[in-house]
Amino acid sequence: RNSGRLSGLNSENSGATDAKNLRVKLVLLGDSGVGKSCIVLRFVRGQFDPTSKVTIGASFLSQTIALQDSTTVKFEIWDTAGQERYAALAPLYYRGASVAVVVYDITSPESFQKAQYWVKELQKHGSPDMVMALVGNKADLLENREVSDQDGMEYAEKNRMFFIETSAKTADNINQLFEEIAKRLPRPASS
Ligand code: GDP
Repeated sequence: RNSGRLSGLNSENSGATDAKNLRVKLVLLGDSGVGKSCIVLRFVRGQFDPTSKVTIGASFLSQTIALQDSTTVKFEIWDTAGQERYAALAPLYYRGASVAVVVYDITSPESFQKAQYWVKELQKHGSPDMVMALVGNKADLLENREVSDQDGMEYAEKNRMFFIETSAKTADNINQLFEEIAKRLPRPASS
């Protein structure tokens, strides 16, 4: 079930395999510390481990989910581990990605600003039919909230993104995030 593995930066093997079994490259973007690794580990391993980190270059983990219509979607999830700051690598990172998940921390307005920067980058470099999600993470820290869900939602709507607030810590909305993305993927015509 859990196939964690490292991969080179120049993989282009994304895209549908057939009408019922989709394989998609998903890239994660967002400020360091917003919880990107924790979201992936919660989704792939069902755990919250604040000490574990996927930090070796650009790596990916994959996870397959089944939808109600018996379609399966295999997500190849790329976490940049900070390498997105090297502008020259950005096009390689986005290439072949059909999904982008931009994460901020609801307790950090700076991270929300940074998320907007990444959305603009994606609009420049990404493929125009990319499914984009805006994720306000750390939703368990309600008492420290500094970005309203209204602000997140409005920004997402303006930029044609799917919006959700999650908590990798409590697992709130983590599976829903990936299920909603899966539902929005363009389906190849069945033959
Ligand atoms: P990344 O740099 O974006 O990959 O962030 P990490 O996944 O390494 O998370 C950064 C820190 O935020 C970790 O120490 C986690 O403990 C904490 N964190 C991540 N997700 C959540 C969450 O949903 N709620 C809370 N309270 N803390 C979180």
